[in-house]
Amino acid sequence: MSAVSEISEFTRHLGLYLPAQDVALVESAYAFSDSAHRGQFRNSGDPYISHPLAVASILSQWRFDAEGLSAALLHDVMEDTPVTKSEIEDRFGAAVANLVDGVSKLDQLEFASRETAQAENFRKMLLAMAQDLRVILIKLADRLHNMRTLDAVSGDRKKRIATETVEIYAPIANRLGLNNVYQELQDLAFRFLHPMRYRTLGKAVKAARGNRREVVGKMLDTIRTSLRAAGITATVSGREKSLFSIYRKMTEKHLSFAQVLDIYGFRILVDDVDGCYRALGVLHRLYKPIPGKFKDYIAIPKANGYQSLHTKLIGPYGTPLEVQIRTQAMHRTAEAGVASHWLYKDANHHGIAQAQRETQGWLQSLLEIQTESGDSAEFLEHIKGDLFPDEVYVFTPKGKIMSLPRTATPIDFAYAVHTDVGHHCVAAKINHELAPLRTPLNNGDLVEIVTAPGARPNPAWLKFVATGKARSRIRHYLKNLQQKESAALGEKMLAQAAAALKIAIEDLTAPQWSALVKQCGAKSKSDLLADIGQGRRLAFAVAQALTAEGKGASRGKTGPLSLRGIEGVAVQYAKCCHPIPGDRIVGVLRRGQSLQVHIADCPVARKATGEHEQILDVEWSRDVTGDFPVNVRAFVSDQRGALAHVALEIAEAGANIANVSLERAEGERAVNMVFTLEVQERDHLARVMRALRRVPEVLRIQRVRP
Ligand code: MN
Repeated sequence: MSAVSEISEFTRHLGLYLPAQDVALVESAYAFSDSAHRGQFRNSGDPYISHPLAVASILSQWRFDAEGLSAALLHDVMEDTPVTKSEIEDRFGAAVANLVDGVSKLDQLEFASRETAQAENFRKMLLAMAQDLRVILIKLADRLHNMRTLDAVSGDRKKRIATETVEIYAPIANRLGLNNVYQELQDLAFRFLHPMRYRTLGKAVKAARGNRREVVGKMLDTIRTSLRAAGITATVSGREKSLFSIYRKMTEKHLSFAQVLDIYGFRILVDDVDGCYRALGVLHRLYKPIPGKFKDYIAIPKANGYQSLHTKLIGPYGTPLEVQIRTQAMHRTAEAGVASHWLYKDANHHGIAQAQRETQGWLQSLLEIQTESGDSAEFLEHIKGDLFPDEVYVFTPKGKIMSLPRTATPIDFAYAVHTDVGHHCVAAKINHELAPLRTPLNNGDLVEIVTAPGARPNPAWLKFVATGKARSRIRHYLKNLQQKESAALGEKMLAQAAAALKIAIEDLTAPQWSALVKQCGAKSKSDLLADIGQGRRLAFAVAQALTAEGKGASRGKTGPLSLRGIEGVAVQYAKCCHPIPGDRIVGVLRRGQSLQVHIADCPVARKATGEHEQILDVEWSRDVTGDFPVNVRAFVSDQRGALAHVALEIAEAGANIANVSLERAEGERAVNMVFTLEVQERDHLARVMRALRRVPEVLRIQRVRP
């Protein structure tokens, strides 16, 4: 057929079910696509436009709507021509543009892995990525036409496309109940993957069918007559198995060709459900049913909405025959599945209502939603939600697909890969670009995790992780860490208390330790020490248990506990006064909390009475290390570049600025700046402040004290 007659045939068909302005939209999409693809040719040598036109024609068989058909005509322009999404949107509206964009995105996904589990994930990802079910239907029609014309494609690519069709697209068609598409895709793929077997089997089937025509005709007559005699109106037809399903039965069930083909297939369509069961009764009286071969998919439909009665009988010549019995409405669902929604949209309302009652499972409830709202976009949303509700599918760098909950972040991904990857995660790349660790992942994202050996989980992650696995691993790690660090602090505190009683705990033997643990009623040495570090036990009381005299020992003078700045979460430097090495300090230990270190004259520390907390004598160790935050207030004249001068001086003095806040006093030509600086100790802070006093714009400067 020439292109001109093809397009006129196509639009004539559209005129049968679409209003004139819809047909006009589709025609203008055709004209646009035709000119965009001008000069491009398919492998077959046909002008490129023949492909989108064929895809749209397939969809028009399902009475697809005008937006969907326009998108089908335009489905390759974004990939293969300079046309952009916004151009399509300008000319044909956002709905068409989104559909075209959706199909193009699916085209960019590559299915790399051969594992079955991965194929399943890939199918789910395709479905989840399509914002609109019409995208999937366009993609399936696209694939169907490509398979029909696969002859023109060269060897290796041919095999790859056929394999992908069997593993990905045919199962999707099956899942959506598009039975005709499913069977044709499988048959075509079979033909290209196993050309010899396909040809041999095809010849054999043809010969066998010729021989059997007479037998089939006689059985058809007998069945029709019996049904009529029982007063059942029915359409009876012989059913030909597809080559692929014959082949599959032979390989899966290890049957010979004769055994598989020696089964006659019939289909009986009746008016209502009652008729189905009555027709079944008639058949079972006519021929002997084979035990265990009856299946009632009317009472229990398949997941894709398929309904029928299946039975297997012994025919007149001792050969088995398989019969499917269903209503017209069930038949429509069986043939076109989800697409039957468009196909029979315009049928009379009684027919639709009937179909809804008969179509159970998810398809039924979805059709009901559709009737209530009358909104086909909502209908599609619900189908999709039902298929794959709460998951996103993302790629690992090796092309594996992982499914995660919908709000999952790179942290969840990292813990899903391996606990160690999660623990040492420092950054993430999404689609090759660095992204914050809290970024929610989208379908089809390629996620890479950057790890560093020294890195450890951040408690802030708990605020945004979505998986239970990530959450529990992070919690577990932090709890262990706290236990370890508290135990280290507790050991120091015990050592200090024991020293006052002239006992050196580093000399204690293992049996002495276990005796002490037992005497104190603790679970283990590390529990006992952590209890001390967290203020749950008094170091002095535990130390007393070590003395021969037990409780009788008098409390000697204890030296201060020295801090090195590396105690971790067990020791915290109070945010009210920001003590830095060199300051006189005091420790406040509340039951079950970490040790808070304050400046000695901090009002918060002075309020601690020792009634609800232990007050500990602490001092800075000689080898204290780290950067300690401290607040400095500077009064700076309001001139251009003043802040930059101040920042430069701070950096040159070797301090970091962790935070800065500005406030302008009303009517004054000066600004109050409060810097949170990170310094090593008091002398370092003094050097920084001296440097700042030399900045001309700095009028006044002082350390902030509570
Ligand atoms: Mn295409």
